Amino acid sequence: MTETMNLPPMRREDHGKKTLVLDLDETLVHSSFKPTHNYDFLINVEIEGRITTVYVLKRPYVDRFLQAVSQKFEVVVFTASLRKYADPLLDVLDRENLVQYRLYRNSCRPMQGGFVKDLSRLGRPLSKTIIVDNNPHSYLLQPHNAIPISTYIDNPHDQELLDLIDYLDNIDLFENVTTAIASRNT
Ligand SMILES: [Mg+2]
Repeated sequence: MTETMNLPPMRREDHGKKTLVLDLDETLVHSSFKPTHNYDFLINVEIEGRITTVYVLKRPYVDRFLQAVSQKFEVVVFTASLRKYADPLLDVLDRENLVQYRLYRNSCRPMQGGFVKDLSRLGRPLSKTIIVDNNPHSYLLQPHNAIPISTYIDNPHDQELLDLIDYLDNIDLFENVTTAIASRNT
């Protein structure tokens, strides 16, 4: 069951900004439900009545990325994961509340055996909405609003978020993001 999910009206201080929708898993972090030494922080999640420890590894430059993009964009995290996992994770990852809104699996549209993030239902103009997601299935309804990013697992040399800061600065100059994204692909 998909809930209606228009975001609240844009905050006054975000007025005129574009909306940047960020995926969570394998875009900003990689989580392991099995014990590992390679993690930045732990969260506890209740799964089927049992408390499970989740080992969360941050993608390189994620802190710097969130700092940078939150200056220029209204930032939304939109995950196909469940709230009971994503909320405690984001409480740690985003201690400074740089992310304005969080959307979870219950806001996704189940389609073709996966979860689709339908940007037309956010209540923001599509010409001013960008999604960054490692899974192309997520944005199959609005591919011209999407900036693909590789799947992050644990590569310590990953620089995609760092590179994305500059690219997003550039896209921000365009009136219509779909034009900007189309021009990148030519
Ligand atoms: Mg993902």
